[in-house]
Order: sequence, then structure tokens, then C-alpha cells
Amino acid sequence: MSDSAIKSQRVVTPEGERPALVLLQNGRIEAVLPPDTAVNCPVTDLGTHALLPGLIDPHVHLNEPGRTEWEGFDTGTQAALAGGLTTLVDMPLNSAPVTTSVANFEQKLAAAQGKLHVNCGFWGGLVPGNTADIEPLLARGVLGFKAFLTHSGIDDFPNVTEADLRQAMPILARHQRPLLMHCELSTDDDAWKAGDKRSYPNYLASRPKRWEDTAVALMLRLCAEYNCPVHIVHLSSADSLPAIAAAKAQGLPVTVETGQHYLFFAAEDIPDGQTAYKCAPPIRERANNEQLWQALQSGLIDFVATDHSPAPPDLKQLETGDFTTAWGGIASLQLALPVLWTAAQPRGATLPDLVRWLSTNPAKLAGQAACKGRIAPGFDADLLVLNPEETFEVTEQLLLHRHKVSPYLGRTLRGVVERTFLRGVEVSRHPNFQHLQQGQVVIHS
Ligand SMILES: [Zn+2]
Repeated sequence: MSDSAIKSQRVVTPEGERPALVLLQNGRIEAVLPPDTAVNCPVTDLGTHALLPGLIDPHVHLNEPGRTEWEGFDTGTQAALAGGLTTLVDMPLNSAPVTTSVANFEQKLAAAQGKLHVNCGFWGGLVPGNTADIEPLLARGVLGFKAFLTHSGIDDFPNVTEADLRQAMPILARHQRPLLMHCELSTDDDAWKAGDKRSYPNYLASRPKRWEDTAVALMLRLCAEYNCPVHIVHLSSADSLPAIAAAKAQGLPVTVETGQHYLFFAAEDIPDGQTAYKCAPPIRERANNEQLWQALQSGLIDFVATDHSPAPPDLKQLETGDFTTAWGGIASLQLALPVLWTAAQPRGATLPDLVRWLSTNPAKLAGQAACKGRIAPGFDADLLVLNPEETFEVTEQLLLHRHKVSPYLGRTLRGVVERTFLRGVEVSRHPNFQHLQQGQVVIHS
């Protein structure tokens, strides 16, 4: 017998949105049936509120251990849960130590004990000289590796060079695990430093599209050479799209994400001195971002991830407004769905689009495609209930991130996540947010 059932007029399944009754058993989806099927278990009727698979964000910096004053497993995963994220994957940097060896990874796993409100996986870090750590880290459970081609912002996570990649990529290819790349290849042109430090156009000029485009071109070349799965994180330059399209057309194992902020904002609208908007690569001009939208809607960009990268307000330099010294990172984990939905709905996007961009496709990158990211029999009953039409204003009180710095403050967003289920158990309910600690460490399946 089933444990329980959820009924809605808007269940988002792999075949599209339809009225259905979803049977749950032992934390999994047992069956997806016609809505009026008679069943022998308690039924929760959501009416016209939509039932979606829980969101999966494979690009999150939780910064624990070592920088818990920036975020942490407890606050970060509470914010995730409130936003309908049921699984996230933590990045190997901004924590101290960085996740570049098994010994360091053990410290992170120990720090996460008892603090996970959602499922959490981990990426390993690739830095110069740690090729020998790749296989032991994979054996211990990291889902893949992340590396930078330019300074990461954290001195103990140095960037790799092409020579380092040539050592690492055959190993990852053998295991068919993804290499996540921050694609910016910097040049020594420092002319912008003489400009106005509070000027957004000046900051934008300091990280030109060609940095991304040369880095993406290098990664596509190496991807073809080694048949190593390459994932380009937070693509911002639309000029790289033709090369990515050509690589995909050749059948290369390359995937691409962009971030909510590249789709929601435009450089033309960012006031000088507003360092809450600083991230790297930067938010570019509207015409560029329109091309990112087209690529997302056509499937050329696989999905959207927040790159949740929080920092204390003083490091964001909110008072000086100095873009040259402010921490580059936008905290938005809790707002992943409403930010994207608010911008996507006027473009004709549907809830199945949203599910593909925020759940089904990110599940593939994290190696969870067989168990997460779909409302279908056999999949984990990680679910969210969405009121797609309701709007709300982003306030500091609402955000559960440790720090409330956000370029979204004061904005009105569409789409309220009302309830979240982890393995069939309801763990939050709007507006009286409560939770049980139900999160697990996710390993490759
Ligand atoms: Zn990041």
C-alpha cells in the first residue's frame, strides 16, 4: 500500500503539465495516475497549485568549514529549502580548507554533519599539482571537479593552466565525470584600473567577453581531444554561443549553465556604486542577455544555476561602492525559481521549461538523472508546491541566507514556493516555515 498521495490539476511530468494523482511510497514516487483514481491512503489535494520536482542547484558556495561567517551548511540549506531546492552541490572553494584532497574533504563532510536541511553533494577542486588526488576524491564521493582559468578570488584555490588540464582530463574522461570550468582567460590589460572605481561600465570593461570566449574555445578544444565531459559554469558572453553550438553539433560532451542574474538584469540598468550586482563574469548588456535567453529557450544552454556566492556586507563594499575591491558574488539561492520565472513567463516559458532548467537538466550534471529531477515512477519524492501566479516583494526578513545583501531586495517577483517535500516528507510550509533535518549527502548514482 502507498504511504500517501498528492493530487493537483498541474503536475509537471516529463510528458508535460497535466492533472494527476502522485502516489508516494518509501520516499519514492510509486505511480503517476489519473487525478480521480480511488486510492487507499491519505490524499493531499493541491487544487490548481502546481506540483514540481524539487529544484537542483549544482553551483552553490556554502563556505563551510572555514568561512561560516560568509554562509554555512545550516543557513544555506535552510534558505535552499525555503526556495524549493531539495538538492544542491557545494563548490570546492571559499571553504577553508578547499576541497582539493581527501583529508580536506573529510573536514567538509564532518562540518556538514547534522546541518543539512536538503540533500547535498560536493564537487572536488582541481588546482595545480593535485592530479593524484582526483581518483581518491572520486572514490570518497565527489561528483566531479571544478577549476578556474583565472584567479578564483581565493588565494588557496589557484587557477590551472592548459598543462594542468592535460594531466587531469584523461583521468576524468576515464571515469566520465564532469570538469566544471570557470571560463575566463585574463590578460594583463589593467587600463581600467585608472578609471572610476564606482563605475559599473568600468567594471564591465575590466572583464571583457573575449576573456570568456578564449577560455571557452580552449575548453572545447580540450574536450574534443580527451572526450572529457566539460561543463561551462555561468556563461555570460553570448559571443561564445556559436562555438558551443558547433561543439554540441559534433557530439562533444559539453554542457553549459548560465545564472539567473545574467538573465534577469542588464548592465545598462545597474547604477554606479551598487556592488551588490558585482559577480564574475559580469552581468552584461541587454542585447547580449537576449541572446542568452534565446540559447536557453532553444536548449543550447542546458540549465540555470544561482552560483550562490554570499559574503558579509563589509566585503561587498556597499559603503564605498568600489567595484575593484568588492567581493564578486551574488547570494540568491532562495530566489532561484521566482527570479527565473518572473523573467521567463513574459517570454512564453512554461512550468515544464522551468523544471527542465532548474531540476531535470542539473540532475544530469550531478549524476542524479536516474533518481532525481522528474515526477515519474521510481524517482525520489523530492517535490515542491508552487503558486505560479502569486507575487511577493523580496525583503531582508524573508531571506534565510546568513547575509541579506542582494540585488533583488525590493523587487517584486512572481512564483511562491509554498511547500517542500524531501523523500515524501513535508519539510516546510509557507508561511509558518518549519523544517525537519532530512538532508543527506548525495553521491554519484
Ligand atoms: Zn561559483
